[in-house]
Amino acid sequence: MYDYLIVGSGLYGAVLAHEAKAAGKSVLVIDKRDNIAGNVYTEKVEGINVHKYGAHIFHTNNKEVWDYVNSFAVFNRFTNSPVANYKGELYSLPFNMYTFNKMWGVLTPEEAAAKIEEQKREYIAKKQAERGLAKDAPFEPANLEEQAISLVGQDIYEKLIKGYTEKQWGRDCKELPSFIIKRLPVRLTFDNNYFNALYQGIPVGGYTKMVANMLDGIELRLGVDYLEHKAEYDAMADKVIYTGAIDAYFDYKLGNLEYRSVRFENEVLDKPNFQGNAAVNYTDRETPWTRIIEHKWFEFGKDEAGNELPKTVISREYSSEWKPGDEPYYPVNDDKNGKLYKEYRKLADAESEVIFGGRLGEYKYYDMDQVIAAALDKCRELGFRK
Ligand code: UDP
Repeated sequence: MYDYLIVGSGLYGAVLAHEAKAAGKSVLVIDKRDNIAGNVYTEKVEGINVHKYGAHIFHTNNKEVWDYVNSFAVFNRFTNSPVANYKGELYSLPFNMYTFNKMWGVLTPEEAAAKIEEQKREYIAKKQAERGLAKDAPFEPANLEEQAISLVGQDIYEKLIKGYTEKQWGRDCKELPSFIIKRLPVRLTFDNNYFNALYQGIPVGGYTKMVANMLDGIELRLGVDYLEHKAEYDAMADKVIYTGAIDAYFDYKLGNLEYRSVRFENEVLDKPNFQGNAAVNYTDRETPWTRIIEHKWFEFGKDEAGNELPKTVISREYSSEWKPGDEPYYPVNDDKNGKLYKEYRKLADAESEVIFGGRLGEYKYYDMDQVIAAALDKCRELGFRK
């Protein structure tokens, strides 16, 4: 009999497992995949750590979280600075002076601000008129499109946001919640750092190694589908920490929550450099993929001994609506799904022996650092940590 059965060996499960063990609890971790680390899993191909389930760049403002992950891995100095390709025009991301210069030829922050202001003003005036409000009444963006245009103006929206967002979410920007776009900074400086975070990097040697360090000494069973053998596994532990999809746990009995899934087309190329950057976003509507990741640039094109790598691995990323059997990646945090999640949450709260956590267990568009912060909070709540 174990104190805890942990279902899922992604970041949430790994933190809980590590802390439970450190607190003297007996722990069994199971995962339905044949590998640990959930969607942060990395796999070595041609000497390159390939992010098998999409690019993961660790970034946080949370010192506790940063110190925590650094106790399991050394982080490199990678800074995410994706490039956008709009019909063959290249733009810097996030939206900053390089982007504005390329878009409008503006040279100074004042010129850029004036250009954005002019486009915003025009748009807001039009929207307020539609709503029968005064031009200078406070503007409340009702959806992602309104939020985006009122933040950066029409041009940036059309070329760098609309197509990409609609491909990624498979929904019109008018039907998406505005918070998604608030993830992206807008800067009047020449700074291509995608994240506003104090700390950022990639674990040297890959995420799998970091998670393996978290799970060191913990009993692990891979290739086990908990939901298919639920009674058997439940009988093995006092408490269950479940990090899978919350609707799947309840056999979708209230209907399924919506997720976006991602499909990757991976290619090994017999050349050292394909696109010169880890991420290139294809922001037009017509290109079927959302982005291409060239994995070696997460580690500056070198292996751990500092050797150049003769080949390169790229992944084209295609976004799709999740259907049963697919891997869920992104919860679709709109009103409809929010309501359904609340209903599932009630069922979850009634399962007194089960703790639901992580991106899928809580149906939240968590970043890695938020998952770890939530996991550490749960560890405190359970008395594993002070
Ligand atoms: N986004 C965009 N253009 C881009 C990159 C991102 O419009 O070139 C928007 C899009 O709506 C996306 C959101 O910003 O869903 C968040 O992007 P992020 O890169 O944070 O998403 P993730 O890395 O989690 O896939």
